[in-house]
Amino acid sequence: TKHFPVRRRLRGLFSRTRTAVHAVDDVQLTLRRGRVTALVGESGSGKSTVARLLAQLYPRTAGTIALHGEPVTVRGGRPFRAYARRVQLIFQDPFASLNPVHTVRYHLTRALRVHGNAGRTDADLDAALRRLLERVRLTPAERYLGSFPHELSGGQRQRVAIARALGADPEVLLADEPVSMLDVSIRLGVLNLLRELKEQFDLAILYITHDIASARYFADETLVMYAGRLVEGGDSETVTQRPAHPYTRLLIGSAPDPDRITGDGGADVAERGDGEPPSLIRPPAGCRFHPRCPVAMPRCAEELPPRLEVGDHDGHWTACWLYHPDVTKAGAAAATVG
Ligand code: SF4
Ligand code: MG
Repeated sequence: TKHFPVRRRLRGLFSRTRTAVHAVDDVQLTLRRGRVTALVGESGSGKSTVARLLAQLYPRTAGTIALHGEPVTVRGGRPFRAYARRVQLIFQDPFASLNPVHTVRYHLTRALRVHGNAGRTDADLDAALRRLLERVRLTPAERYLGSFPHELSGGQRQRVAIARALGADPEVLLADEPVSMLDVSIRLGVLNLLRELKEQFDLAILYITHDIASARYFADETLVMYAGRLVEGGDSETVTQRPAHPYTRLLIGSAPDPDRITGDGGADVAERGDGEPPSLIRPPAGCRFHPRCPVAMPRCAEELPPRLEVGDHDGHWTACWLYHPDVTKAGAAAATVG
């Protein structure tokens, strides 16, 4: 295992307009080359904020971002520019992220030039453009270079957005719901392309989604986020097959078909009326999930649960009091007595 292109620790309280919104609090995550890490949560859980913080699109209130163990600090200075090249963001809506008045050639040329990958001659540039389009399976390249975004399908546009990100020769892709706006029939193709690119270029991918079934299919590691905090993490297979946190169980129980791998688990939990995610302006004290939790204990409303190990030392953890030794011992005692 090669060591992390990005190691990051984030403590957030970030300010939007005048109200402090606890969008992301104390989120720690490490992305590693050759691995997909899924960040799963419903709308408003703060998962897109994490991507934007990692892409340095927002200043963070507190916390650090490190690349290869080196803290990334200055915006605009040299470290920031190197970081911007290595860490590329792919948005949910490829139409909004491409400028409608410019062709594919323009978008890709610009990305190559900004990151110094356009070569010196026109022939170099043409070869680089063709290579980018071939990498995202838009061939023959000549057919796509002169196209405007509106002349392409949603899937083709997302492939252009991915090609543009590759133009920077990145180490990390931050993919924020990259397939949720695409037709169900083409989602898998785009996820498979990302997976091939991960292998080919040894990329670290952060895959943000509200669909835990697609995380199981696509990601090596899965992190579950609720109301701005991470509540569970581990190997994707473990987290999706043996979920520990009551919220993760709710997410899985609410997926219409656990084996769906379309990149969309249907409506968010919140939209189906299984309770509302809390306000991030004044988040609940203690465990933020306690107002919705079917097994909440008195302690849950008062104290924030720490990260606790679940099971057999395979890196599976959860932030839930149920897994605290006090509670598990009491449970075992009760089971023995009863
Ligand atoms: Fe439920 Fe308590 Fe666990 Fe939070 S800490 S998920 S409220 S049992
Ligand atoms: Mg979002």
